Amino acid sequence: MYRINIPGFKDLNIKYLVSDLNGTLTNKGIIKETTAALMNKISQNLKVYIITADTYGKAGEACRTLSADLSILRTGKEKEEKASFVKELGGQETVTLGNGANDELMLEQAALGIVVIGEEGCSTRALLKADIVVKDIDDALRMLLDPEILKATLRA
Ligand SMILES: [Mg+2]
Repeated sequence: MYRINIPGFKDLNIKYLVSDLNGTLTNKGIIKETTAALMNKISQNLKVYIITADTYGKAGEACRTLSADLSILRTGKEKEEKASFVKELGGQETVTLGNGANDELMLEQAALGIVVIGEEGCSTRALLKADIVVKDIDDALRMLLDPEILKATLRA
């Protein structure tokens, strides 16, 4: 659970973190050690889900060291499937991380959406639906671990 009041934005009451895998948590299918450590720190406060179409078939291996539930998308309609995952969980209690066009709706659906440019870039569609843009996944995770950074960025 994670509570923070942000003047001019909203009162956040976050229980879940839902993240895309490829290009968001990973670069070429690999999660940095620093990213894994930060993710595991966050998972002490939030329930973490990783949702992916598993394009490279490496999701299980990539997420091996993470305290997170891995959900593989099956329908071929990834954008809609990701959004309904967040909706069912409770969008207003969820922060989402993504980078691709198929993350657009789940970024919009969440109380807080963070788009990651990373080394693989991000979709401008996803970017326009996000609340925050970061250059590196670790910046997003540090922000979630330090509400003061979040507040400084989002307050109006
Ligand atoms: Mg992606």
